[in-house]
Amino acid sequence: MNTGFIYDSAFLKHDTGIGHPECHDRLLVTMNHIQTLPWYKNLHQLNTLPIEQKWLATTHASSYIHRAEEACKSNQAFLDSMDVTISPNSYDVALLAAGAPLIIADEIIQGNITNGFVLARPPGHHAERKQAMGFCLFNNVAVLARYLQKHYGIEKVLILDWDVHHGNGTQHTFEEDPSVLYISTHEYPYYPGTGAYSETGIGKGEGATLNCPMPAGVGSKDYEIAFKDKILPKIDGFKPDFIIISAGFDAHEDDPLGHILLNTDFFGWMTQRMLEAAEKHCQGRIVSVLEGGYDLTALPLCVAKHLGALSNN
Ligand SMILES: [Zn+2]
Repeated sequence: MNTGFIYDSAFLKHDTGIGHPECHDRLLVTMNHIQTLPWYKNLHQLNTLPIEQKWLATTHASSYIHRAEEACKSNQAFLDSMDVTISPNSYDVALLAAGAPLIIADEIIQGNITNGFVLARPPGHHAERKQAMGFCLFNNVAVLARYLQKHYGIEKVLILDWDVHHGNGTQHTFEEDPSVLYISTHEYPYYPGTGAYSETGIGKGEGATLNCPMPAGVGSKDYEIAFKDKILPKIDGFKPDFIIISAGFDAHEDDPLGHILLNTDFFGWMTQRMLEAAEKHCQGRIVSVLEGGYDLTALPLCVAKHLGALSNN
C-alpha cells in the first residue's frame, strides 16, 4: 500500500495569536514525532499548491472568498467569528490547505498511491458556504468531494467525520445531495449545536446524513457500537466510490476541547475499519484531512496511529 503525505511549513504562517488552541505548534510537534518513525521515509511525499478559485467556488460563495481575502490582507483580527482569528498570511495559507487534499486525490486517481493524509491547517469542517466559523476558513473536505465529482466524474463520495465537534459546514453543504454521504461521530450536545440524530438530510438528500451524537464521558466501547450497528452498515448500503475522512483528534481522552474519552489506539481501530470499507467498495481510495486535535502530547501520537494504519505500518 502506497500512502501520500502532505505537510508544508507554510501552514505554520496562519497566526491565530497567543493562547489560541488552533496554533501552529500542533503541526510542529506532530512533524517532530512522525519524522522519527521508521516508516515515515516510505510515505509518498507531495507538495501542495494553492487551490484554484473555480474549485473553491464549488463550495463557497465568491463574495465570501473575496471577503476572507480582504479581511486577512487588511490585517483584521478575526473573520465572522471571534474564534476564527486571522493574520495577513491566513488567506494564502488557507488556499494551500484547501489545495492539498486535491493533490493527494490526483495522485490516487493516477494510480501512484492508494490513499493519503494531509497534515494542514487551518481546519475546515465548520466553514459554511458564506461564513467562517470554529477556527475554519474554507471547508477543505467539502471542496475535495466536489472536486472528485466535477473533475473526475466520481459519483458517490463518503465523508466520515470523527472530530469531536459536529461538522456543521460539511453537513449543510451536502444535506440536500444524495451523492455525498456525510457521517459524523461527535460530542452532543456541544459546539456547534448541530448534529442531532434526527438530522438525516433534506429532500433528495434524506438518508444521506448520519449523525451519531455521543454524550460527554463515553469512550471507545460506545464508538465501537456506533460503528458496528450504524456506521459500517450505512457505508455498505451506500457503496462509496471514494472515501474522505475529516480526521480530528479532539475526541481523545486528553483533549482540552472535548469530553469524549477515546484512547490513542482507537484512532488506529477506526482507520482500520475505514481501510476495510475502502477496500470493499472503492479500491482502497481514501483521502484523510486533519481537522481538530489540541492536546500537544496526544495529537502527534494519534496522527502516528492513523497515518501508520493508512500506510499499513
Ligand atoms: Zn474539533
